Amino acid sequence: MATIYKVKIGDIEIGGQNPIIAQSMTNTNTLDTEVSVKQIIELFEAGSKIVRLSCRSIKEAENLKNIKESLQKKGYNLPIVADTHFNPAVAEVAANYADKVRINPGNYVDKRRQKIDFSAEEHLLEREKIKDRLQRFVETCKQNSTAVRIGVNHGSLSERMLYRYGNTARGMYESAMEFIEIFREYNFHNFVISLKASYVPSMIEANIMLHKQMQKKGFYYPIHLGVTEAGDGEEARVKSAAGIGSLLAKGIGDTIRVSLTEDPVEEIPFANKIIENYAGRSEQNMPYYELNKSSKPQIILKYDNFTDEDILINSAVDFTRINYETSYKRLKILSNGIAKNELSNIILQSLGIKYSKAEFIACPSCGRTLFNIIDELQKVKQKTSHLKGLKIAVMGCIVNGIGEMADADYGYVGAGAGKVNIYKKKQIISKNVAEEIAVDELVKIIQENGDWKEL
Ligand code: SF4
Repeated sequence: MATIYKVKIGDIEIGGQNPIIAQSMTNTNTLDTEVSVKQIIELFEAGSKIVRLSCRSIKEAENLKNIKESLQKKGYNLPIVADTHFNPAVAEVAANYADKVRINPGNYVDKRRQKIDFSAEEHLLEREKIKDRLQRFVETCKQNSTAVRIGVNHGSLSERMLYRYGNTARGMYESAMEFIEIFREYNFHNFVISLKASYVPSMIEANIMLHKQMQKKGFYYPIHLGVTEAGDGEEARVKSAAGIGSLLAKGIGDTIRVSLTEDPVEEIPFANKIIENYAGRSEQNMPYYELNKSSKPQIILKYDNFTDEDILINSAVDFTRINYETSYKRLKILSNGIAKNELSNIILQSLGIKYSKAEFIACPSCGRTLFNIIDELQKVKQKTSHLKGLKIAVMGCIVNGIGEMADADYGYVGAGAGKVNIYKKKQIISKNVAEEIAVDELVKIIQENGDWKEL
């Protein structure tokens, strides 16, 4: 039996049989106390139990103290989380004030050096560097009872992990496990782990691997679930339900976040709806389905008298679970005898089975976002949705956005207030394009590269 660790985040305990909870993230400037506090309260009021803020600098990390105090004065004592991503110095300061600090193993110490091979000695040497650098952070967390999230992102694995394991679910798992083992060597256990990807099958595979391996190794820490850069609208909701819901239905996951490129408040009711449906804490029975054994086998799912939202969540989760066991390429969803073909197509695309339009990867935005990503995503989608098979990333900042746009064919990335950089794969093609003309510039670049098709 594995030792199950419960984690305290402020006054909330997660892990074990504790309830599964939804969390969210601000998209405000963390230096702006008033605006950030206002949005955090909106998120708490909407049902989020934990709110994360981006911390880009030591000043922002220090301002968490004012944010926390202001929230407490207003009667809100729920936990706040600092997202420090790649800056150990910021993480060490944030650990004094936040209830939890998120760090990313992919860039916490390992820097991008365009290095493509690592000997076994170099690999271990880097691990030692990470261990040394984590010591002060761990001590501060212990002193302040601060929790940590080891937050791995598929799009930002270290060069060292990429060399050894490739850009794979295994690479995500190994990145997290290295940090887990270092924390355990320091006798620090107040942490959760997340393995996020924008591609749903990778996110599922990595989390199942983590779940199994932790049990095998005899310890179990809480898992935070999320599909990152999911975009907006039905596509994003399908991806989130498929990834998060299918894992919850397997009894995996303790906290969740649905990331949408929409108003952050929109994320919470949908996240809570997924929890409501699938937070059973033990593996649920496989859903009922019909298999049409024609020459091309087709799964048929039926939902009579369900709301549209419940059909979306249930069909995304049910098909993902069925497909995890046996791979099927065709899906029909029926509601009171009416076929939901558009939804079937979105589900098939979210699992990488069949592409019927362009695929969009878009970040939910945060304090680093320098342009109106919600509007920009809409403009990009309007012009390019018909480009079946193309992957287009719309990201809020050049700091993390480029790494995290994964294997997108084109990138449309916020470079400054009202400015956009456009990429072909990871190569920059146009810099600082004014927002008003940036979508036309993207279309021009797609045309010049031979990937454009008229509607
Ligand atoms: S890519 Fe988006 S969510 Fe990620 S740090 Fe940049 S703006 Fe924030």
